[in-house]
Amino acid sequence: MHALVLGVGDAFTRRYFGSSALIQGPDGYMLLDCPDLIHRALFEATSRAGWTVEAAAIDDILLTHLHGDHCNGLESFGFRHRIARQRQESTAHPTGGAPQLHTSRPAANRVWERLAPAMDGAKAGGRPARRLEDFFDLSVLDPDLPAWVAGLRIECRFTNHPIPTIGLIISDGKSALGWSSDTSFDEAHIQWLSRADVIVHECGSEPPHTSVDMLNALPDKLRAKIRLIHIPDDFDPTTTDMRPLEQGEVLEL
Ligand SMILES: [Zn+2]
Repeated sequence: MHALVLGVGDAFTRRYFGSSALIQGPDGYMLLDCPDLIHRALFEATSRAGWTVEAAAIDDILLTHLHGDHCNGLESFGFRHRIARQRQESTAHPTGGAPQLHTSRPAANRVWERLAPAMDGAKAGGRPARRLEDFFDLSVLDPDLPAWVAGLRIECRFTNHPIPTIGLIISDGKSALGWSSDTSFDEAHIQWLSRADVIVHECGSEPPHTSVDMLNALPDKLRAKIRLIHIPDDFDPTTTDMRPLEQGEVLEL
């Protein structure tokens, strides 16, 4: 499994893209969150890493929650796929269907509420789009039941955040990536993530985020596998021994 870091910023960043990644699994690519300027974030990170992947070649999106810095790119991602399907850009769109959108039940229930003002009524194959399913094939993740996405095993757990948000453990059978998602400091959540080989943990102001001081107090063994994301623009890396991720960096797992 390879995880390409697309963005490392928080909701107010002027320097970065929103926290997100592109995971290469055994059966394809999975986009982990879909922030603003997703096409540019993808272009810059894939160019730096030497990958050639654009939005229409990504058939799976895993969405942690509905805050804009994690989901504002869904509209243009959905339109890009629809146009690719209409033009039958078969090489750019391997399965030929709408991309799958994997998220929690509460986010699944409300995602169309967010997208509809921009997407409802758009012409899709000659008829106006009326539903989320005209753009995305919705798949609900259940915290009690692992799911398979792009050949990867996905487990999720709700975090402590003002709106329903899921943290993730993503495994290809050989190694596992833990993704805290947005959360205030939650020892039980970190415990749950601890069986992953690498943990990508968010970092920001308490609440609704986790301060670096809280993470600094974790045991050495745990800190050694934590990488930081969702960092404020003025984050000072000398305040911790946990390394902030960089955009365009590939985590090899
Ligand atoms: Zn959030």
